[in-house]
Amino acid sequence: MLSRKLRSLRDVVEAQLCIGCGACAAYCEKRGVALVNDERKGIHPVFEEGCGDCRECLAFCPGAVLDFGKLREADTAKYHPLLGPWLEIYEGYAVDPEIRYRGSSGGAISALSLYFLEHEKRAFVLHTGMDPEKPWQNRTVRSSNRHELLEHAGSRYAPSSPCEALRRIAQSSLSCVFVGKPCDVAAVHTLRASWTDLHERLGLMLSFFCAGPPPGGATRELVASQGIAPESVTSIRYRGNGWPGDFQIHYDGGRAYRSLTYRESWGSLAAYRRPLRCNLCPDGTGEFADIACGDAWHRYNEDGNPGLSVLLVRTPRGKEILERAVKAGYLVVEASSPERVLSGQGLQKRRMELHGRLLALRFLCWPRPDYRGLDSAVLWRDIPFRRKMRIVFGTARRTVVRRYLNRCAG
Ligand SMILES: Cc1cc2nc3c(=O)[nH]c(=O)nc-3n(C[C@H](O)[C@H](O)[C@H](O)COP(=O)(O)OP(=O)(O)OC[C@H]3O[C@@H](n4cnc5c(N)ncnc54)[C@H](O)[C@@H]3O)c2cc1C
Repeated sequence: MLSRKLRSLRDVVEAQLCIGCGACAAYCEKRGVALVNDERKGIHPVFEEGCGDCRECLAFCPGAVLDFGKLREADTAKYHPLLGPWLEIYEGYAVDPEIRYRGSSGGAISALSLYFLEHEKRAFVLHTGMDPEKPWQNRTVRSSNRHELLEHAGSRYAPSSPCEALRRIAQSSLSCVFVGKPCDVAAVHTLRASWTDLHERLGLMLSFFCAGPPPGGATRELVASQGIAPESVTSIRYRGNGWPGDFQIHYDGGRAYRSLTYRESWGSLAAYRRPLRCNLCPDGTGEFADIACGDAWHRYNEDGNPGLSVLLVRTPRGKEILERAVKAGYLVVEASSPERVLSGQGLQKRRMELHGRLLALRFLCWPRPDYRGLDSAVLWRDIPFRRKMRIVFGTARRTVVRRYLNRCAG
C-alpha cells in the first residue's frame, strides 16, 4: 500500500512521478544511482543497495517538490497565472538562416547558445541529441561550436536526462549553458542553491515549452509502423529543417529515407502513455529558466515561413544576454504578449486542470508532488462543473489503470 507522503526517491519512482531528469544520478557522491531508459516507461533511476531510501535527493527532485513561491517574490517580474513570471516577451528567430532552418521553431535556443559560446567565452552547452546506437532514444551531449550545436538542434520527442551531466558543468573551468525541459531546469534551479561550483559555472539556463516527451517505444513503434526495421535506422529527426518540419527517418545505412508530416508523427507519438508526472505537470513553459522558448504557433500559416519562436525572458540575467545577442546580430525579436503566446498554446492551459488531477490522487491515497506557492485552486474555479467531474474521475480511472499496467509490466 502506498503512503501519501513521498519519503524517498524510491517512492517517487514507484509512484511514477519520476521524469528521469537525471539530477539524482549527478548529485549522488556515492554513485549509488544509475539511469535506465525503459522504452515503455521512460528514463528512471535504479539504486545501489541502501541508496534509494536516502532522502537527500528529494529536496531537488522535480517529481517530489517544486517551489514556485520564490519565483513570484522577484519584484522585478510581472506574473501571469498560466505562464508564470516574466520580464519581457518576444517573438523572433535566429538571424543565421541555417540555424533558423535546422531549429525546431525559429532556432532561438541554438542562436542564444551560439552567441554564448562565441562572445561570452563559455566552455560548452549541455543539451540533448540523438543516440546514434538507438536513434529513437536520446543521449546527453556537450556542444562547443556551431557545427555541434547545429547537429543537435531541433526537438526530440523522446525522454532525456540532461541533468545527469551536471557534474561536468560544476567541474568546468569556464561557465556553461544548460538546455533542458522545464522539469530539468527546475531541478537545476533548486540544486544550484546548495551546490556552489554548479552555481558559479552555470552561465545561462534555457528551456522550451513542453507538453511531455513520449517514451522511446513510441518512436520505435512509429518507425516500425512504416515497415522499417528500427535496427536498420541510422538517424531520426522529429522536426526542424523548416517549420515545423517533417519527421525524417534515414535507414539501411543512410541509403533509404522516409518522412512523415509533423501532424502525422506528433499525432501518433502524443497518443502514447507518458509518465504520470507529465500529466501532473505544473510548468509546461519553463518558469525556472532564464529564457524559455516555444513555437509561435499563433503565427503559423503553412506559408513556408522558415520558423518563428516565442521567447519568455524570465530573469535579469536572461534579459541582459538576449539584449547582447540581439545587438551582436544573432537574433531578431519583436515585442509580444502573454495573450498572443497563449492563443497558439492550447496545451499550455492545462495548468487550469492541475488542481482537479491532484485531487483525484488524493482520493486514491496516491503520493503527490508538493507544488509550493502555486495557486492551482484559483485557476480551477474557472472550469465548468461537468468538466471538473470529467477531469477528477478521468484522472482517478487512468491512475488505477496505470497501477495495474505497471504491476503487469513488473
Ligand atoms: C518533449 C517536447 C515537447 C514540446 N512541447 C511543446 C509545446 O507544448 N509547445 C511548443 O510551443 N513547443 C513545444 N516543443 C517544441 C519546443 O518548444 C521547441 O523546441 C522550442 O520552440 C525551441 O525551438 P528552437 O528552434 O528555439 O530550438 P532549437 O534551436 O531547435 O534547439 C532545441 C534545443 O532543445 C534541446 N532538446 C531537444 N529535444 C530535447 C529533449 N527531449 N529534452 C531536452 N532537450 C531537448 C536540443 O538539444 C536543443 O538544444 C516541445 C519540444 C519537446 C522536445
